[in-house]
This record gives sequence, C-alpha cells and structure tokens, in this order.
Amino acid sequence: MPVGTQASIKALDPHTVSALGFRILLCNTYHLLLRPGTEIIKKAGGLHKFMNFPWLILTDSGGFQVFSLSSFNKITKEGIIFRSYLDGSEIFLNPEGAILAQCELGSDIMMVLDTCIPYPCDFEKTRELTNLTHHWAERCLESYLSISKPKGVLFGIVQGGMYEDLRSFSARYVSSLPFPGYAIGGLSVGEPSEIRIKMIECAVEHLPEEKPRYLMGVGTPLDIVEAVMQGVDMFDCVLPTRNARRGTLFTSQGYVNIRNSRYKDDFSPLDPACACYTCRNFTKAYLRHLFQAKELLAYTLLTLHNLYYYAKLMERVRLAIYLDSLELIYEELTKLYQKTAEEVEE
Ligand SMILES: [Zn+2]
Repeated sequence: MPVGTQASIKALDPHTVSALGFRILLCNTYHLLLRPGTEIIKKAGGLHKFMNFPWLILTDSGGFQVFSLSSFNKITKEGIIFRSYLDGSEIFLNPEGAILAQCELGSDIMMVLDTCIPYPCDFEKTRELTNLTHHWAERCLESYLSISKPKGVLFGIVQGGMYEDLRSFSARYVSSLPFPGYAIGGLSVGEPSEIRIKMIECAVEHLPEEKPRYLMGVGTPLDIVEAVMQGVDMFDCVLPTRNARRGTLFTSQGYVNIRNSRYKDDFSPLDPACACYTCRNFTKAYLRHLFQAKELLAYTLLTLHNLYYYAKLMERVRLAIYLDSLELIYEELTKLYQKTAEEVEE
C-alpha cells in the first residue's frame, strides 16, 4: 500500500496511482482528524469520494502519529490526550473515538487504537503498554460490533516491543479476538534488522495462516521480501514516495541518487529495465536538472517511478509465491542493494 497521509499520494493524482496497479492505499486518521476534520470528509460522502480514489482505503487508528508527531501526549487507561501539531489545541483520542473517526472516513480496513512503544523500552513498560493495547483492542472491537451496518472491517494489532515472549503473548492474545486480519505493529522504529526479523517470527507463529497478516510501516524491497518469506501478506510504507522526493530511486541496478553530479550529462533512462512513464520518456540528466531546480515535476516523475518499481516487485513476489522461488528474489535484492547503499548514503 502506498501511503496517502493527507488523503493524497504526494505528487501523484489518484488516476495515476490506479494506473500503476494499486487497488489499495493507506491514509492516516491522525492527520485527517486534525485537518480537515473527519466530519467534513463524512459530509463529502467519505474519503473515497473526497479524494476520488474508487478502490480500497486502509486507515490507521491515529495512535502511532500521536506519539511520533505530537510535542505533548499523555496516555491513560482511557485513551490518549495530545496537542495538535497544527494549532496546539488539546485533543482526546480513545478507542471508541478512533473507531468513530475511521467510520466517518468510510474506511474499508480500520485499525484498532494501539500504543506506540518507543525503542529501546524496558520490559515492565513494554508489558504495561502491550496490555493497554490489548484492552483497547477489546474496546475497539466492542465499539465496532455495536455499529449496525459497518462498511469496513477492523484489524487487530500485535505489539510486544522487542521482547520475544511479549511478542508471542501479544500475538496469541490478539489472535484470540475475532478480527478478520491481524497487523504486526511497533517495528521499524530504529531496531536492528535481526531483532525485527525475530519479532516478526514470534508474532507470525501465532497468527492464523488463513487470515491476512499485515506488517505495518515496512519497508525496503529486501525487508518486504524477507517478511513475505516469513509469512506476511500486507505492507504499507512511505519509503518509495518519500525517497523519491529526496532523490533516491529504487532501480534494477540498485539505488540511484539522482542528485549525483555524475548524471548531469547522462542521457540514458533512470532505469533501462523499467517500463514506467518516467523511464520511457526522460533521461537522468533531465530528471537531475528538475530535481536540482526544485521543479514540481521532479517529484511527480520520481514518485511515479518508485511506485511502479514497488508495484512490479509485488507482482514478482506474488508470482514467486506460486513458483516457490522467493529465495531467488531475496538473493538478487541482497546483492543489488548492498552494493549501492553506501553510495546513496554519501
Ligand atoms: Zn521507471
């Protein structure tokens, strides 16, 4: 799922997003709650109409961003009190409020309100916040089940920080509740990748195979393929769109940093193996020029390429599941991105 934080995939119109093959995207409840307000979107006929995206929309509960974006937040058993990053006003978000907001948006897949556990975090604090997430999950479910004709479905979220036993415990607990899908949250928050992989393993083990498993906020092409091999089905990540706006592209030759001066007179396509609109019609030299000149078209063309790359990657991954050849993609990506990662860091 590409991420459309403010009810928009930055720099792309929804028609292009659809044409790239995406039939689902993620929008952030937190941002839409603060601006323009979910009641405005409800009045517009829901998020799909408001932003003119006819396919599926998954919304997060707002919890994660309250922790990452608010200068002030306080957790109580009842919910979270936080200050808006827009005007400093105090807002209270509880499990029932998170469900109501997502219903007003007309979300197809809603997420329960969870707590965001910082990294690192000691065992006791992690256990306390994980238990609170479980309590909120039950309240979200109760609130959801009280809606007479809900439009969307509601997913549960596994927490447990970076502790194997807490991850397993959380996965067992959340999967005992009748959600149609389960997410693994609280990863990609700065932990080393070995820990992330271990935590996914602890969670996946207890999540039913016949229901979707969704790894929130991950990741690079390699992270995704690795998690698919572990049994994960769904992903969202800002990486393809955010990296594009910073001039970092995913290509069949690894990372390309379009800001690099070596491209100033390089009239070859960004990725000769890519069939996207950008690669078929423009040169590296032109894309670099647009980027250096901060022309808005740079963001559009580069975002288009990165999302096309991710769409094609996921197509390959789906096929590889049938052919039992994920290992080959994994090896290819390992070589590719290790080789060019340093160069992009510069
Ligand atoms: Zn391309």
